[in-house]
Amino acid sequence: MKKPDLGPELERMTTYCTYCPKMCRFSCPTAAAEARETATPWAMMRLLELSRDGSVELDESVAEAFYHCTGCRRCQAFCRHDNDVPRALWKARSWAVENGFMPQAFEPMARNFKSHGTPFEEPQPEIDTSAFDAEGSIAFWPDCSTVQHRPETIGRIGRLLARITGEKIRLIQMDDVGSTPCCGFPLTAAGIKDGGGCREDLWPSLKGVSFVWTDCPALAAWNHSGSSWPLAPRPDDPTMGHIFTLLSERLSELPPPQNLLDLGDTLLHESCFVARQIDALDDVQKILATISRTPPEKMAYEGKESPCCGGRVHYRMLEPEGSEKAAATVLEALDRNEGQERMVTTSVMCHHALEEAGPDSLVTSLLELLCEAYDC
Ligand code: SF4
Ligand code: SF4
Repeated sequence: MKKPDLGPELERMTTYCTYCPKMCRFSCPTAAAEARETATPWAMMRLLELSRDGSVELDESVAEAFYHCTGCRRCQAFCRHDNDVPRALWKARSWAVENGFMPQAFEPMARNFKSHGTPFEEPQPEIDTSAFDAEGSIAFWPDCSTVQHRPETIGRIGRLLARITGEKIRLIQMDDVGSTPCCGFPLTAAGIKDGGGCREDLWPSLKGVSFVWTDCPALAAWNHSGSSWPLAPRPDDPTMGHIFTLLSERLSELPPPQNLLDLGDTLLHESCFVARQIDALDDVQKILATISRTPPEKMAYEGKESPCCGGRVHYRMLEPEGSEKAAATVLEALDRNEGQERMVTTSVMCHHALEEAGPDSLVTSLLELLCEAYDC
């Protein structure tokens, strides 16, 4: 069997990890949730190093071990070598799948993508499309978590985008079935298809579109040069970015929001992909400063150090208990902060994961607060 071909940069990272005294162990949400040594960044990277030098032979259990990482990059925030562990582990997963070792937990997801273009079993809920226009050259491509778990937000965001751009907004849909597809990131996270393959095979036509704005941090990360998995742009591609980037630039040009929010009783959870994969922390702060009279409180670990809720689709499928435990750990911050009764998070995926781990009324998302502030 061919050994994994990591290239010099990732080889350097696996070597550094192998000889590291596990300096980032405390920061890893999956290691904490599963409480076992094989789920630490150090152990996963060392296993990859041993696979690379041929000391370990790939089998089902070796392959499975590469999947206990959500891609949150929190370990990187504490690593003096700036090691990008998710980038190395994503490569390890592709190697495992290429050699016939895809964990069984991902079989339903692969089937769902084939049959209806999303990772979810359930049929896609109805979306209010009245705010959108198929002729628009600016498009909104919602996160599949928003489509599945917060479909009512999509029409509201469409109205907000039309208001701030003064343009018609197109909703990204599959031409033949009218449903809104997932960008395919969960398949990449599972090692089944690389980003380029998702773009070629799963993305709908973006012809006639000049800008695609999304609330999906993973899709935005593919289009962000500093992420763990940037996709090389093609000449005819529209510009793609996270909706927070557009909003942070444009909201100040609008009249102040109808409802200025008092968020003094709210803790801010900064989603790991928004904080560390697309570097949108400043955008989040600018938006909050525009929509709130009193901004939310910060968590003990915030910004680049913010904790991960474990809500990534592939991790929930592989380790549902670990995923729920990671979300419950994030919510525990509410118990430690007197006066803070609810949490706002910056991604709908995190919103859903946190909501499942605690009472619904405790959690909201920045998107929902925006809609509330601008009454849309
Ligand atoms: S990511 Fe950095 S801190 Fe963590 S084990 Fe590797 S070298 Fe050590
Ligand atoms: S990226 Fe996050 S989940 Fe992955 S090993 Fe690092 S801390 Fe753990």
